[in-house]
Amino acid sequence: MKKEKFSTKKLEYLKKSDCFICKGQIRKEDTIFENKEFIAFLDIFPPTKGYAIVAPKKHFEDITEIPEKELQKTMLLVKKVAKAIKAAYSPRRICLAQTGGLVSHFHFHVIPMYSKDWNTSENFKRVFFKEEILKFSQAKLKKIAGKIRKNLKLKKTGSK
Ligand SMILES: [Zn+2]
Repeated sequence: MKKEKFSTKKLEYLKKSDCFICKGQIRKEDTIFENKEFIAFLDIFPPTKGYAIVAPKKHFEDITEIPEKELQKTMLLVKKVAKAIKAAYSPRRICLAQTGGLVSHFHFHVIPMYSKDWNTSENFKRVFFKEEILKFSQAKLKKIAGKIRKNLKLKKTGSK
């Protein structure tokens, strides 16, 4: 029997499907921030609590396509979201990733890393490469998004 890696299958599936960010298929309850230009939301398959995605609403394939000004604004929003996650759940550190391997719409992963995710390189790999995900109910995700949103509002803009 021919064998296929799971990730290859997933890649094929995502290539076939339309862009879920452009199509606005993100649940309101999972949204952390939204305006005309940007959206930040919880990843519904998170390896850690508070794992979020930040994206410009316009579809850019990768970093070479996004205009500098929009990239700067995206990064500033990434920082605000990271600070809100840190305030809400006190992870040991926030890591960032921008891969674009599966979803072609340019976005950042904002990854809260807790002490238990950090103690071995195996654990780090497990979280950073999403080898295992946490099963949160929709209600729990809604609660997490709400807590991060609340902390995002508490933060003053323009501060360090
Ligand atoms: Zn898109």
